[in-house]
Amino acid sequence: MLRNTLLWASTNPLLSEKLPRYRFVQRATRRFMPGEDRDDALAAAEALDQRGIDAMITLLGEDLSSRDEVDGVVRHYQEALSDIADRGITTEISVKPTQLGLEYGVEEARARLGELAAATPSLVWVDMEGSKHVDATLEIFKSVKEDAGNVGLCLQAYLRRTKDDLDALLPLDPAIRLVKGAYDEPASIAFEKKGEVDRNFVELTQTLLRARETGGGLPVFGTHDPRMIGEVSRMAYELGLGKDQYEIAMLFGIRRPEQARLARTGNRVRVLISYGPAWFPWYMRRLAERPANLWFVAKQIIG
Ligand SMILES: Cc1cc2nc3c(=O)[nH]c(=O)nc-3n(C[C@H](O)[C@H](O)[C@H](O)COP(=O)(O)OP(=O)(O)OC[C@H]3O[C@@H](n4cnc5c(N)ncnc54)[C@H](O)[C@@H]3O)c2cc1C
Repeated sequence: MLRNTLLWASTNPLLSEKLPRYRFVQRATRRFMPGEDRDDALAAAEALDQRGIDAMITLLGEDLSSRDEVDGVVRHYQEALSDIADRGITTEISVKPTQLGLEYGVEEARARLGELAAATPSLVWVDMEGSKHVDATLEIFKSVKEDAGNVGLCLQAYLRRTKDDLDALLPLDPAIRLVKGAYDEPASIAFEKKGEVDRNFVELTQTLLRARETGGGLPVFGTHDPRMIGEVSRMAYELGLGKDQYEIAMLFGIRRPEQARLARTGNRVRVLISYGPAWFPWYMRRLAERPANLWFVAKQIIG
């Protein structure tokens, strides 16, 4: 019930507008978001870099409603890519199709993603949003992948269709970030039980690692789950893949000792840093994933 309440809060416009104005609410987010500005995110990326951990940054905000806003997001990321090059760090960017103008059609978002890919030699990651955007997101990704090459795509293990989507993408030798999935999806299209999602995650992991063994592409496993991380390491080892052949990705502030341990033991670790003023829906989704974090939030507020 708590999870559903948090997911409901994540889509409530009134709460989204009012709650972030309170100082105590802002204070409670610091553990998972270094700040609202790009400089805050890049300073955090630099600090991670010094500890042997790579970063990815993402400007929060989705479903943008005007072309001016879309232009602003594209400019923001272009400046971010230039800042990243100046700082000499390996940070990548991760973008949402609805931030790139998907509202105005696949062609618009495709062109914007192409502009970002052209502005960097590094991978530009495409986040996966709610299920109604999956077809368009795949189309945009495939098109820019064929033109530019340096794009990666997030796929969600909770969606029943993902196995087929992945099979169709593999001939492109894609960089794929596998996650469990963060949105509220109906049982008709998504596995609901954690055990089912985990099982699918493990099967997709196997497909990705086997593809890595024989082809190009880069598998990235975006999870904090110790069991999933254990399965990734075990399967990679059994296939004879080195630790440099895949990445483990986690969110900023979550399981920090584990991030450090993985990096120390020779794994490629990447941390996704989210920032920006539009953090409320994203933050509610994070709490919904792990309501135990509400205790942490309460402590921050009281403290
Ligand atoms: C790098 C990255 C990128 C992502 N991109 C997307 C995306 O584009 N689209 C999308 O839909 N989703 C995305 N997600 C979110 C993802 O879909 C999951 O919702 C999220 O990662 C939680 O699932 P999990 O695999 O970590 O484990 P869960 O199944 O939520 O939890 C399993 C176990 O992991 C550990 N754990 C999980 N969360 C925490 C925590 N907060 N603190 C401590 N331990 C924890 C606990 O031991 C827990 O029992 C991304 C996640 C990451 C890490």
